[in-house]
Formats: sequence, structure tokens, C-alpha cells
Amino acid sequence: MTESSKLSKPVIIPGGGIGGCACALALSQKGFSSIVLEQSPEFGEIGAGIQLGPNVHKMFIRLGIDKAIQDIAFYPNNLIMNDALTGEEITRVDLGKDFRKRFNAPYGVIHRADLHDTIIDACRHSKLIDLHTSVKMVDYEETTNGVTVHTEGGDNYNGAALIAADGLWSMVRPKIVGDRKPRVSGHIAYRAVLPIKDVPEPVLNDDVVLWAGPKTHLVHYKLRRGELFNIVAVFHSDKYEEGWDAFGDPKELEERFSNERPEVHMLLDKIESWRMWVLCDREPVKTWSKGKVTLLGDAAHPMLQYLAAGAGMAIEDSVVLAELLERNDGDFEATFKQYEQARYLRTGRVQTTARIYGDIYHAAGVVGELRTMMLSARDPKNYDGVAWLYDGV
Ligand SMILES: Cc1cc2nc3c(=O)[nH]c(=O)nc-3n(C[C@H](O)[C@H](O)[C@H](O)COP(=O)(O)OP(=O)(O)OC[C@H]3O[C@@H](n4cnc5c(N)ncnc54)[C@H](O)[C@@H]3O)c2cc1C
Repeated sequence: MTESSKLSKPVIIPGGGIGGCACALALSQKGFSSIVLEQSPEFGEIGAGIQLGPNVHKMFIRLGIDKAIQDIAFYPNNLIMNDALTGEEITRVDLGKDFRKRFNAPYGVIHRADLHDTIIDACRHSKLIDLHTSVKMVDYEETTNGVTVHTEGGDNYNGAALIAADGLWSMVRPKIVGDRKPRVSGHIAYRAVLPIKDVPEPVLNDDVVLWAGPKTHLVHYKLRRGELFNIVAVFHSDKYEEGWDAFGDPKELEERFSNERPEVHMLLDKIESWRMWVLCDREPVKTWSKGKVTLLGDAAHPMLQYLAAGAGMAIEDSVVLAELLERNDGDFEATFKQYEQARYLRTGRVQTTARIYGDIYHAAGVVGELRTMMLSARDPKNYDGVAWLYDGV
């Protein structure tokens, strides 16, 4: 790894989530220094799982962290969709050797904290990355030869450019894109992680399983080499307007999933403490850069999680951006324009397809029956429908 920067001033990256840290790592590998400013007192992700398609594993190779990820991830055998009312299997995607051969990489699931820690560890090994916590950006301005970021604590950071990885509620985005608050979808997600020994036998397997019910779904899979078990329960509600990461109410879940299969209830009954998310997204946009400032990850293209691809898109953004910056010899304005051109159709497709997947998972009545009829005819080893996503960049 190059140890001296190609830049006289570092890139400033507000936001030390998966996107911001992956971006700092990708830039460092091309010889560009950066400062990551994270508002929280510590870098970290909440306890929950994350799915990573083969497109993301190819990015891990380019970031040099593929071995570390393999040591801590879990590699499921199938993606399975079951009917949450009848228990009938609707469809499955076989993730075995044919899948790996087709995409030249596996499909994995990982604890968010394990993914984040792996990226942070790699960042800490680079002299080109400065990681700061408890630093909240409150404003920024472009100067003649770079950017200045102002923080809540009254400090200023001067940099060559700004890559805002400050998430769904990005404070940089309104200045560039000019849109308002994110769209509240009316869908709520409850998430929890169980030690594997607490998982009831009938639901314990090596697959990612989704129970699709009317206006609800529940997903579960093993994590951390099979030591943990991730559960996500999603339902429609107009009770919440917006919010992020609060405690959820188990009684509400019982109500929403009341008519569903015993397997679903076995898992709901096991969890005492849920974390809750009000799911939001935005319409895709074509432009998210201005001068020496750009957006990355959820700040640029927030999406519903139904394709399990938001973090993967942030990691892809990082690799693409760093490679373009190298190709453009550190010219930020040219790079940022090319980067959004390279990314907006792919990320826009994930944003819009994720909404459609939500409708498919939550279909009820005749629409639900039609969904089952159409999907049950699928060959589990036909990967044509997912190739646009998993082939990657
Ligand atoms: C229920 C659920 C399930 C999901 N499942 C998957 C999945 O299976 N696969 C997948 O790929 N994706 C999944 N996602 C999406 C994924 O979590 C996000 O797309 C991803 O975390 C976005 O990363 P990010 O770094 O862009 O933003 P964030 O993770 O939101 O990080 C932004 C960071 O910026 C910091 N910050 C914000 N403002 C400031 C400021 N002013 N100054 C300094 N710091 C600031 C925040 O504290 C935060 O650390 C899921 C999302 C949800 C809600």
C-alpha cells in the first residue's frame, strides 16, 4: 500500500458508516489520503445481519479484505421464500456451486458489526486514513482550492474535496440535490439477533428464509460462521412518521403476524428486545455532485432494504470512485461527474426494484396467489433475473 499521499490535502469524508469507511479504504489503496468524521462517540453498527451478493464479494477482493470477510461470514445454501399463511414454499434460489460458478463469487451473510470492524481494521492499517469520532459536521463550503468543513465543536477541517457518506438524513444532500426529507414508506422493520443455541429446531437451517405474508414478511438466517441467528420482521403501519433505531414493541408484532405460521411465532416469541426502523427511501436522481463535493451510499441513493443491497451499493460506489480518481490523476470535479454517471442507473435500478420486491413479498389475496403461481414455476438454478445485480460493476 502506498504510504505517502498523492494529494497535498486529504479528502474529507463526513460519515463513518460502512460507506464512509469503505470509501476511505478504497481511496487509500489508490494513494489518496482522507479524514473520516463520525458524529458518534465510537465507530460501530447495531447488532443485525446484512446480506452480501457476489457483486460485493468482488469489491472485497479489490479492497483486500476478502479473506477477513470469509473468516467471519456465513454462506447459506439457498434463498427461500415461503408463504407465511400456508407454509408452502413459493420459490428458491440455489446458492450452491452452480451459483458460485455463474457469478464467480459466493452469496454471504454477515453481522453488520463484523463487516464494519473488518473495514475499520483495514483503515487503521493505513497511514493515509485519519479516523475521528465525536465530530459532527454542521456545515461546509467550497473554497478556491478545496473545501472547508465546520463542526459542532467549532473546529474547521480543510480538504481537497468532500465525499459525504452521512446517510439517509444527509445534511450535504439538500445543498446539492435540493430535495426535501426522505419518503416515509409506511413499512416498519424490527430486528433482533439470537445466540444459535436459542433458535427453535424447526426453523434452524443453513438457508436465508423469507416468510411472505399479507403486508408483512419475516426473514431469518445464521450469522458469524453460524454462531448467531438474525431475524428481521417487517410490516405496514401508518403509526410512525419517521425515525431510526428505537426500541420496538413485541405486542405490536404479535398483532401484525397473528394469522401466520407457527414457525413465525416461534421466532417472535423468542425475542424480548427488538430494535425498530421506520423504512424510508427517495426517488432516484441523476446528479449528486457539485464541484468538489459529492455524495456516497445512502446519502446519494437511499433504498428500501428488500433487495438487501444498500450497503453493497455504498461499497461499490467507493471502489468505482477511487478507481476513477486514480484514472483522472486526482482531478475531483471530473471524477465526481464520471462517478455519478457510472452509478446513477445501477443504483436507481436497485432503488426502484426494491420497492417492487416489497410489493411481491407483501402481496395479499388474489395478487398473492398470482405471485405464488408465477414464482413457483421458477427454476432454482436460473439466475437470469438476478444477474444484473450480482454480476456487479
Ligand atoms: C432493516 C434493514 C436491513 C438492511 N439489510 C441490508 C442487507 O441485507 N444488505 C445490504 O447491502 N444493505 C442492507 N441495508 C441497507 C444498509 O444498511 C445501508 O444501505 C447502509 O448501511 C448505508 O451505509 P452508509 O454508510 O451510506 O450510511 P449509514 O450507515 O447511515 O452511515 C452514515 C454515518 O454517518 C454518520 N453521520 C451522519 N451525519 C453526520 C454528520 N453531520 N457528521 C458526522 N457524521 C455523520 C452517522 O452517524 C453514520 O455513522 C439494510 C437496511 C435496513 C434498514
